[in-house]
Formats: sequence, structure tokens, C-alpha cells
Amino acid sequence: MIYVDVILPLPLRDTFTYEVPKEFNNIEEGMRVIVQFGPKKFYTALIYKIHEIAPENYLAKPISDVLDSIPIVSKQQYKLWHWISEYYCCSLGDIMQSALPSVMKLSSETKLILEDNTECEKETLNDKEYLVIEALELQNELSLNEVSRILNQKIIFPTIKSLLSRKVISLLEEISEEFKSKKVRVVRCIDRNVDIASFKNAKKQAQIYQSFLQLEKNNSNEPILVSQLLKATSSSHQTLNSLVKKNIFLIEEKEISRIESFDNHNLVSFELSEIQQTAFSNIKSSFLKKDVVLLHGVTSSGKTEIYIKLISEVLARGEQVLYLLPEIALTTQIINRLRKHFGDLVGVYHSKFNNNERAEIWNEVANGSRFPIILGTRSSIFLPFQNLGLIVVDEEHESTFKQKQPSPRYNARDTAIKYAQLLNAKVLLASATPSLESYHNALSNKYALVNLTERYGGIKMPEIEIENIKYVTHRKQMQGAFSPALLNEVKQTLSKGEQVILFQNRRGFAPVSECKSCGWTANCKSCDVSLTFHKQQKVLKCHYCGYTELPVNKCKSCGSFEVQIKGYGTEKLEEELHAFFPSASIKRLDLDTTRKKNAYQNIINDFENRSIDILIGTQMITKGLDFDNVSLVGIINADALLNFPDFRAYERSYQLMAQVAGRSGRKYKQGKVLIQTYSVDNEIIQAVKNNDYLGMFNTEISERKVFKYPPFCKLISITVSHKDHNLTNLASRDLAILLRKSFNSNILGPEYPVVSRVKNRYLKNILIKIGSDLSINRSKKHIVSLIDTINRHQDYRSVRFTIDVDPL
Ligand code: ADP
Ligand code: ZN
Ligand code: ZN
Repeated sequence: MIYVDVILPLPLRDTFTYEVPKEFNNIEEGMRVIVQFGPKKFYTALIYKIHEIAPENYLAKPISDVLDSIPIVSKQQYKLWHWISEYYCCSLGDIMQSALPSVMKLSSETKLILEDNTECEKETLNDKEYLVIEALELQNELSLNEVSRILNQKIIFPTIKSLLSRKVISLLEEISEEFKSKKVRVVRCIDRNVDIASFKNAKKQAQIYQSFLQLEKNNSNEPILVSQLLKATSSSHQTLNSLVKKNIFLIEEKEISRIESFDNHNLVSFELSEIQQTAFSNIKSSFLKKDVVLLHGVTSSGKTEIYIKLISEVLARGEQVLYLLPEIALTTQIINRLRKHFGDLVGVYHSKFNNNERAEIWNEVANGSRFPIILGTRSSIFLPFQNLGLIVVDEEHESTFKQKQPSPRYNARDTAIKYAQLLNAKVLLASATPSLESYHNALSNKYALVNLTERYGGIKMPEIEIENIKYVTHRKQMQGAFSPALLNEVKQTLSKGEQVILFQNRRGFAPVSECKSCGWTANCKSCDVSLTFHKQQKVLKCHYCGYTELPVNKCKSCGSFEVQIKGYGTEKLEEELHAFFPSASIKRLDLDTTRKKNAYQNIINDFENRSIDILIGTQMITKGLDFDNVSLVGIINADALLNFPDFRAYERSYQLMAQVAGRSGRKYKQGKVLIQTYSVDNEIIQAVKNNDYLGMFNTEISERKVFKYPPFCKLISITVSHKDHNLTNLASRDLAILLRKSFNSNILGPEYPVVSRVKNRYLKNILIKIGSDLSINRSKKHIVSLIDTINRHQDYRSVRFTIDVDPL
């Protein structure tokens, strides 16, 4: 008898064994099957292993169906998954959940909906398909169990698969509006035998008709947009509509991906400057000796242009490229830059992309055909590359490469290095402010190091001024959040027709509402944090769980009406600034202003074409953006960054400030940066001022060595959580006692994290330092087994333990 071990898309630690009935004799590892799990539920599972050994403790059930004729997950991917599960202490099921687009993993909970805009040709449906569509027309969505009931049988996947592949139905997406693909109106010709002479008095109509046929020829089967046709014929909607009324044309809405709408006609070329050329050659020669190169290039040195040259060479060899970015937000500018050189060879992939499109990209990458370049965020390291030549990790220092929630808690940069190793590809890590880990690896010869110390065009690094807020406040000269010096700089900049970026790492209006007479603050009811006041939305909001309530002006503790709001969020800065510069156009770039569809892109476009004068933003604004007319960057409050209680706070502050400073003066002339701070003499502030990455690196790295922190050890963090405060305390205490027996003094905690209660769960952290004297893999196995011991304890069964390897 043949058996298969399958991975289920569930947080189960192990694979499960099923029996393979005779009729499914063509199975291979990496194919999807349908299995029943639990009494009623069925899932898409992945064949991990094929063998002939019956399970010992249970009777193997048969698989219900096989979905694929070829494997969709490759052997190399499985090797990567295996590595991730060991390295990050997570289950293969968690990885399957994160890795596969949801279309590829139907389960009982999946909901089906009718695809918009398809007039489904009912004659082409078979009986079963017809029943499903009919039901969907009556009720908006169907679960798979309902489908099963309608068809009166268990085997429903062939039917669903067929409907999905013909795009008659799709899966209900939980994702928000904002990333759905664009809709365009296209013209379709439904009567191709029109006698033009019959148009007689309607010359314009004849012209449209002929233009249409001509465009169709040139467009090689691409749909013809309404706008395109009207433009080509300089005619009005009205004329076109008369052709629709005559049943000659049909106008339909069609979803297009932005990629498909791109035309390849105007690709541009450029030359690298001499120093860029040197860096480029150094990278290439380094790749002969090393698999990973770290490119340390100051902001605006033209790193992107160097990637473009590298990518061209990789493509010329017929290999694939993965270009990783830390944030979805950044993809909009970079995609435009890449398309100028590579046209529609670039595919975009990120977690919020339309479901079907993600599956489509997955298949294209597996085929190795349509998108040899993939631009994506961290989840794109799960794509099934066959012939990968290069991975570029842009802004490699960014903490967003690390997935914090849910498991797998992987770092895409480090996983990329592993994947590249499995596929024999090279990795280029790049940043103006590399992480201490990567720079340390480069200095200790694990990676090659290539430097780029000048801005493109020989433009000087921005001049950085430090404004002593302590002094200004003391003299009562602060105007709200602004020092007179900053206001003056803004004024000067605007008067020259140049633009300003202001950075404040806090969204909303004000982070604290506090009673003046008794000190009470408005806090979240399920988290241990104060609620942020959002003035526009008129709510108090928790940034941890999303809870909202109405703003208060009466103290809930003493009843006084002296509740005042404290602190500055981007929204309040915007309001204050409006008063100072009433005629300037001021906008915000933060999570609140970028929720809606295309909002991010619109703000960036408006800023690019200068219809915004001042852009106020959170860390979103610091990453990799390229504007040519910004000559002033203001950092409102550097102290909030420096004082964050974390051993990486100084490194982070340096990175953030140097990066946001890097947005100033990129194209034509030297820019200016003004940093407001209470800590003028702080070494990090000074390092930023002097553009002294190495100074920062040397100070920090020696501290890390003395106090034994990464890169001199590995960190594993365990978060213990439960709704019961006491249980959290006891379980974490007992776990720490056990851990100390094995790891002695290398255990820190248990301690309350900065926010010690989230969504009604009390949290405690234990941090384990694993020095190079210990085997990291054995240590992890041991830690997992100790957690299991505690978790099995009768009192602690309901306590949750979360392991985070290399926490950031
Ligand atoms: P970085 O990624 O290092 O911050 P960018 O790649 O964004 O820098 O380059 C900064 C600006 O200089 C961009 O507008 C870019 O188009 C321009 N630039 C850089 N190198 C070249 C080049 N060789 N030719 C033309 N423009 C360049
Ligand atoms: Zn909350
Ligand atoms: Zn009070």
C-alpha cells in the first residue's frame, strides 16, 4: 500500500499520513491533494513524502482527490521550508499558510463568489457547474460544505477547479479594497460584418469602427480601452455610445493588473557614472568569490541604477531575479523605475495583492516564462523559482523584512540567503545604513563589501543642523512643536519653490489624553497602552488592537473636565503647520492617509509633480523614496527614537534619521536637514550630523560585544501569554527556572514587555542568548522540549508560548 505524508495548512507540528487509493497512481511529492481532517472538514494538503509505511497510532484515511498533474512546490522549496521550520521553530503547516496564495489552498472555510463582470456562457457549463453557478446567482457566497450539499456528493473539487480556472467564480477575499487591481473600460466588437457604407451620415461612427479594427491589429489581441479609442479618433462618448446602441460594440469593465497595462515601446537606457561603474565591477568580481555582497552606498548614490545593470546581465543569461523591498508602499516608485528599463518583464508580488493574480504570478514564476523579474515584499521568497540568478535585498537593514505575526516568524533577508544558496544564486544586500549584523558579516569576510561613498552627480551630502530644543523651550520660543529655526527654514524653502519633508514617528493627533487634576489617562480596555486621539475621525484609537471609543473631556476617574491631550502625532503637526503656512499645500503620509485604494500612489505622485509643498510622514517616508525637489527635511523629535527601551534603539535611530535625511537634496544641489532634539551631544545625533556610519558602527559593535548581544550571540525570545495575569506570571517563572538549568546566566527575564497586555492577554518575555560556544540547532530543540514540558503541565495547558528566533 502507498502512503503519503501531507502538510495541512494548519498550525500542527507534524505531517499526517494518508493512504493512496489505486486510482491515484500518478502522484508526486509537491502535488496538492484533498484530504479529510477531523470529522467534517476537508483541506487542500501538500504531499511531502511518498512511502509504504502505515502510521503506527492511527488508521490512515484515504486521500479524497488529487488536484495537480505536476508538483506545484519544488524539491528546493521543500528544502527551504524544512530549513525555515527548523531555524525559526515553526511547523510546515504555518509555512504552507504563508507561502501559498489562498486560491491554492481551498478548505471547508473557503467562500466562493461569482466573478464580477463575467457573463458566463451557460451552455459551456456541465450539469454540476451549472448547479453551483445557479446557486451563486441566488445567494452571494457559498462555502465548500454548501457546494457539497448542492451537488449531493463529497467530490466537488474538479467542479470548483474548473470554474476557478475559467474565472467564472473566485474566492472571497478578506483583503481590503486598496490593493485590488485596476478596472478599465474596454471596447469589444460584437458585429464584425458591418457594411461601412450603411453608416451613411455617420462619418464619425465609421471612423471609430475602422479605427477599432486597426487598433485591434496593432494591439495583438490586447483589449482596446475606451479612452484609447476615443483619443485615437478624437471623438466623444456619445458617438461611441451610438455604436453600442446599434449592437456593434459592447463596453465592458475589465480588471487589469498594472503590469499588463504597461507598454514596452519607450524603454530608456543610461550610463553608470565612473564610481558607480567601479562599484558595479567590484560587485561582479566579488560574486566570483562570494555568494553574498553587501553594497554600502550612501543615500542617492544610485544603488537602484546599479541593480538595474546587474539585473540586465542576469536576464541576458536567461536567469530569474528577485528584487526584495521592505514595504508594499515602496513598490510603487520602484516598479515605475524598473519598467522604464524592463517593461512588462517585471511582476509584482506581495501579500495584499489580488488573490488570483498572486496565483497567476506563482505559476508564471514556476514556468519561468513571463516575469523573469519579480519585485516583491518578504512573502515573495516563497515563489517557486526554477532558475534564479540573483536576489537583491534593498534596504536590507529594515525590520519589516521580519515577519512578527503570525508564525513563521522568518526574516526574509536571511531566508533569501538560504534560498539563494539552495538555488545557486547570488545575493546583493544593499543599504545606506546596513544592519550591524550584515556589516559585521562583511567585515569578518563572510560577505564581500562594496562601498559607494558619493551621491550621484557629485552632489554633496545634506548639511545637517541640530536644534537644541531644551534651550528653545527654556526661552519659551517653541511654537507648538516647531522651533523658530525650523519654521524659518520651511519658509525659506517654500519661497524658493522647493519642497519639505517633516518626519514624526507617530500617527494620529495626540498619543495621550490625560487628566490634569488626578493624572488619569484614557487607556485601551484590552491593552496596556494609552489611546491615540484621531481628530479627523473624532475617535480615540488603540494602535495595538484597533479598539476605538469617543473622545472624552470628562475624567473617568475624578470627574473633572480638565482632560487635556498631550504629545504630537502627524495629524496635529499638519494642523499647526497650516496656521503658519496657510497657502502651502500640506499633506500627510502615514497609515491613516494610505488606507484607501491607490492613496499611497496618489500622494507620492502629487508630491513628485509638486502639487504638495510639505509632506509630513511617519517612518513610511524614510524608505528609499526618490524626489528631486526636496531641499529640506525636518526631524521633529529625535528623542522619541533615542529613548526607546531596546538594545537596538541607537542603531535604529541612526538608520531612521540618516535615511530620512537622505531624502533631502538628491538631484540638483545640496539639501538641508534640521533635527530638533533635547540631546544635542548624544553620540548618535552627532554621528548622523557627520554622516558617520562607521563611527556609529564601531561604538555600537563594541557595546554589543561587551554586553553580549547580536551579532555576538543569537537571541531567542519566548513570549508567554494568557488572559489570566497570574497564570502568565507562574508559567513564565517556571519556564525560566527550567531554562536557567540549561542556559545559566544567558536567560533574561521573565520581564513585562513595553506593552504588557494586548487584546486582553497578559504578556511576559524571556530572552535567551545563545553564544557561539553552543550549537544553535541543538539549543533550539532543547528549548522547544522545555516549553513542551511546561505546556503539558496540567495548570499550563491553556498558556500560549510563542518562540521568536532572531527577534527584531
Ligand atoms: P539610492 O537608491 O542609492 O538612494 P537612487 O538609485 O534612487 O539612489 O538614485 C538617486 C537619483 O539619481 C535617482 O533619481 C536616479 O535616477 C539618479 N541616478 C543615479 N544614477 C544615475 C545614472 N547613472 N544616470 C542617471 N541618473 C542616475
Ligand atoms: Zn487595544
Ligand atoms: Zn481626573
